[in-house]
This record gives sequence, C-alpha cells and structure tokens, in this order.
Amino acid sequence: MRIKKEDQVLITKGRDRGKQGVVQQVDIKKERVLVDGVNIVKRHMKAQGMRAAEIIEKEAYVPVSNVALMCPHCLKPARVSKNTLGDGSKGRLCKKCQEVIE
Ligand SMILES: [Zn+2]
Repeated sequence: MRIKKEDQVLITKGRDRGKQGVVQQVDIKKERVLVDGVNIVKRHMKAQGMRAAEIIEKEAYVPVSNVALMCPHCLKPARVSKNTLGDGSKGRLCKKCQEVIE
C-alpha cells in the first residue's frame, strides 16, 4: 500500500476531484481509503426507539487508485519510490524533491 494513515492526499478522479484531505482509515484488503471531508454521503437513519429519524453525513471510502499522495515538502502530488534509506530502513521518497515522506 503506498498510502498510509494521516497522509495528505489529493483526489484525482470522481466527484471530489481536486479536493485534498487527510487519510483517516486505510482498508488494505480492498485497497481503499477514508479521507477527511471527501466523498461525503448522506445516510438516512431510521427512527429507533426514542431516537428520531435523522440524516447523517459521513465520509465513504475512495479507491486508492483515485488518490495521489501529496508530498509535504514540495506540496505537490508526489510520485513516490520506495527506497532503502541511509539508516537501512525502508521509506518513501518523493521523486520530485528527493525528500523522504514519513
Ligand atoms: Zn516532494
């Protein structure tokens, strides 16, 4: 998975194209992410017991193929390569500015 929780991402496809947000959840199995403020859907909650019926707005998952990782250094959608860093750990490297993305 090239996207991690708390990454800043840009939506590149679909209704929310051009929006940016922070990844809240990553669903590795289905390769989709939940992004703060993106792909909001309205859910109608039926009245239940004492609770009245209501409409709640909630983010829905976006396929990973529809998002691009934003590089926090050059502030552009980054092409990322996985590299072994100086200390031997593996990390993501922005191909544009050559900075490590945490
Ligand atoms: Zn960069």
